Amino acid sequence: MQDITTQQVWFLTGSQDLYGQDTLDQVASQSQQVARALDASPQVPAEVVWKPVLKDSDAIRAAVLEANQDDRCIGLVAWMHTFSPAKMWIRGLTALQKPMLHLHTQANVELPWADIDMDFMNLNQAAHGDREFAYIQSRLGIDRTTVVGHVSDPRVTARVGVWARAAAGNATSRSLRLARFGDTMRNVADTEGDKTEAEARFGFSVNSWSVNELVEQVDAVGGRELDGLVEEYEQSYDVVPELRHGGERHDSLRYAAQQELGLRRFLETGGFEAFTTNFEDLGGLRQLPGLAVQRLMAAGYGFGAEGDWKTSAMVRIAKVMGQGLSGGASLMEDYSYDLTPGAELILGAHMLEVCPSLTSSRPSLQIHPLGIGGREDPVRLVFDADPGPAVVVGMTDMRDRFRLTANVVDVVHPPHPLPRLPVARAVWRPRPDFVTATESWLMAGSTHHTVMSTAVGVEAFEDLATMLGSELVVIDETSTTRGVARELRWNAAYHRLAQGL
Ligand code: MN
Repeated sequence: MQDITTQQVWFLTGSQDLYGQDTLDQVASQSQQVARALDASPQVPAEVVWKPVLKDSDAIRAAVLEANQDDRCIGLVAWMHTFSPAKMWIRGLTALQKPMLHLHTQANVELPWADIDMDFMNLNQAAHGDREFAYIQSRLGIDRTTVVGHVSDPRVTARVGVWARAAAGNATSRSLRLARFGDTMRNVADTEGDKTEAEARFGFSVNSWSVNELVEQVDAVGGRELDGLVEEYEQSYDVVPELRHGGERHDSLRYAAQQELGLRRFLETGGFEAFTTNFEDLGGLRQLPGLAVQRLMAAGYGFGAEGDWKTSAMVRIAKVMGQGLSGGASLMEDYSYDLTPGAELILGAHMLEVCPSLTSSRPSLQIHPLGIGGREDPVRLVFDADPGPAVVVGMTDMRDRFRLTANVVDVVHPPHPLPRLPVARAVWRPRPDFVTATESWLMAGSTHHTVMSTAVGVEAFEDLATMLGSELVVIDETSTTRGVARELRWNAAYHRLAQGL
């Protein structure tokens, strides 16, 4: 995974030649202080790189073109310290291909009430300089995130940090290569989609390989490498006795390790950061990959089951956005409900493939039969996801566009032990409440698979949707079914208009 701390956000300061060199020197020095404060904040994960103050149209356009072509740059932060007449920004902004954050700030916190004079006012006039800049961005249709406040306010650095995480997710989307082993589960609709359109809109490429090309890699694994990984399993997890060294089913664990190493080699060789499998199309694989998929997700790979490339891409993007934070991201599937009135809960899981980044406890490594697929019993990690706030996000192909739907939820301790459920799981309460959230999700026609993120929250996905130009329906504590129904109708009209003919 590209380390987010090595990715760059470029800090652009707008001004003009009107003010004289003394004032421009102060603009430069104060904007460097703002950029340094952002860079130094632990809440802002990327490197913040200050660029020389922009005073005319040619310099603005040159800065934007340089940002466009530099892969280290994941986005721009722009601040109009003084007044930067915004027609100067048109040639630059119309060429802009990177995400934009408009930082509306000023150098000072308090006004120097007793001493303020016109020199001070002329230097510190972002209050109207940024309005001029906001106007031209709105007029040109520049989708952006606007953040207001002084950089010493932790709410400001936190908000910039979330945006930078979304920008890293956007950069990943635009370069992601995703490998599918086999096609989509037969007859399933919501995991389908237009892969060509996805590449045009989001940048990620999705292509299929025969599962038997993977089988060749899996079968080629052996020797010390295999012994070492099996040893790592025995040390990292509570391994049931039958799977341990000398246990009667130890061979199944060794085969799971072969699958992990074979998959990893295939993905590394091809430069893939995400993949899908399909239990209906396992070729010469002896087990449905469970443990291998769980561990590769934990290592940062995106994954979707049953050929679900849309969720796989979102898992990868969520992992990039959540780098360095506590919590994680995983494929999730709404599986079953507790419908006790007023205390409803959703039990989420999958056949096997839930990522252990959702737990801080030590998973148990077990083997059980799988009711479907007709293969040998698969090895899997079993655990409960940690309680805490989370977001589940699904991507659907609505034919003329993609729709993201996000629900803010609270993962809870399972109210009772689940001794006979042999899969990793999460139990959650959706916001604002079960009925509103679920009615809204169903009205949106959203997916049965999601990415669950416990590292980044809904704000990161909101910024990401802005950067990707995608619809996003948010279901959270402020939602009502009536409001969501209206939003869905408005969105249908807006997104058809916004993409043109
Ligand atoms: Mn599924």
